[in-house]
Amino acid sequence: MPKTDFHMHTTFVDGQNSVEEMAAAAYAAGFTAIGFSEHAHTPHNDSCCLGPHDTAAYLSTVREVAAEYAGRMRIYAGLELDYFAPQVAGLDYSIGSVHDVQKDGCYFSVDHTVDILKNAAARHYDGDMLAVAEDFYAQAAQVIAKTQADIIGHFDLVSKFNEKHQLFDAEDARYRRAWQNAAKELIGYGKPFEINTGAMSRGYRTMPYPSVEIMEFIRDNGGFFVINSDAHYCASIGHAFDLAHQLVRELRLPLVNMEEVLQNKKQG
Ligand SMILES: [Zn+2]
Ligand SMILES: [Zn+2]
Repeated sequence: MPKTDFHMHTTFVDGQNSVEEMAAAAYAAGFTAIGFSEHAHTPHNDSCCLGPHDTAAYLSTVREVAAEYAGRMRIYAGLELDYFAPQVAGLDYSIGSVHDVQKDGCYFSVDHTVDILKNAAARHYDGDMLAVAEDFYAQAAQVIAKTQADIIGHFDLVSKFNEKHQLFDAEDARYRRAWQNAAKELIGYGKPFEINTGAMSRGYRTMPYPSVEIMEFIRDNGGFFVINSDAHYCASIGHAFDLAHQLVRELRLPLVNMEEVLQNKKQG
């Protein structure tokens, strides 16, 4: 399997390095293909995504850098589409991700800070964090239908803070039912789930998304995977891919070659 990473952010939004710097770092690290997946403009929350008029500049920058690397490393121009982001034409690919849950006409982030998540649970759910997770997965089940994306981003993002804060019991039957229903629905679309190491490079988790239990369920129900780093700076490109590959081997997780997937899509 070629060395690839299809989830990378840049200074266009919340990354610390430019497209040029990220590409140079990936090339130096031996990647044969990479994809940029900046946060697409999302009208309800324009602080953590491309501005309404920045998408064209972002895409043309990625295309220019891709041309510089032609023949050495393939670079794909994509976006990470939040559940509430409108679809964008002219992309090589996209990642569909739930970051925000909509409740009572408000939106709250499940991955920004632990306090935002706790406050939202208190305000909208009487503190019932499992109910938050149920709403999160109800949205997650629809993320491909909504975004038409090529990759399912960090499927169990709602568990981001659980290692350090134990916000809910991941073994609770309500939690299992919620993610199992969403996973079954998504597997039907035939799109790969990410093994996403982004929370590891940023110190929130010691294991990738999704949990081992979820990975095994996806495997047993016919789903497959792609390994991505969700890198926000050069040194996190490919972070913990050794551990991810070890999981793939030990759990016998089926991986897809993302470039073949995109090639097949092009040929329709
Ligand atoms: Zn994301
Ligand atoms: Zn991301």
